[in-house]
Amino acid sequence: MQGELAAAVAELRAYLSWAEEGGPVIIALPPTPIPTSTATSTSTATSTSMPKLPIVSLDEVRARMGECTLCKLHKGRHNIVFGVGDPKARLMFVGEAPGEDEDLKGEPFVGKAGQLLTKMIEAMGLRRQDVYICNTVKCRPPNNRNPEPEELAACEPFLKGQLASVQPEVIVTLGKFAAQALLREQTPITRLRGQWREYEGIAVMPTFHPAYLLRSPQEKVKVWEDLQSVMKKLGLERKR
Ligand code: SF4
Repeated sequence: MQGELAAAVAELRAYLSWAEEGGPVIIALPPTPIPTSTATSTSTATSTSMPKLPIVSLDEVRARMGECTLCKLHKGRHNIVFGVGDPKARLMFVGEAPGEDEDLKGEPFVGKAGQLLTKMIEAMGLRRQDVYICNTVKCRPPNNRNPEPEELAACEPFLKGQLASVQPEVIVTLGKFAAQALLREQTPITRLRGQWREYEGIAVMPTFHPAYLLRSPQEKVKVWEDLQSVMKKLGLERKR
């Protein structure tokens, strides 16, 4: 009983370590652990029909990209924002597109949303350098507009190359575009999040984008549930 209480307190503490960022938060009891059969079920998972990809290194993928001009996003960029982290990470986060800070630094998730993502990763008991982080498109859309379908399609081979190289056990997609691009379905993110899916045999957990959480901090409870489900699948210890 004491062990359960300690675990619940640790869980709540880990959640609060990032959930307090960005505004008022509804303090909920720690979510009920999800039974393995539900958390890992892929019976309703949708598999993409894409062929298996050749395994190359991240450096090779980046070299093939060069100073890419495959879509019009190249015109306004300062830097290609490729990706950062452990090249053999078990966990990969895929976001939507670089913002202004990312474009200037050439690194994904370094603005306010990125800082929140870092806290989320740390609440899982990991460090930013333990995971791999990238976006569906590697150049910043003007005025932070959403990536257009042809831009997503043009940049997709690079994302596929990164996935084939890192070969993570779990992918967490952040926001609507990353989930829809990877899973090839138009289901709203409000329905997709929290549901295990699959891409090329890799488990995919769609969740909300940290930028959305900055605007809607009450949704952090749901994201924490998703991250706990990921921790359970990866066998990660809760932060104490
Ligand atoms: Fe190339 Fe991707 Fe940049 Fe488009 S977004 S120019 S496809 S690297």
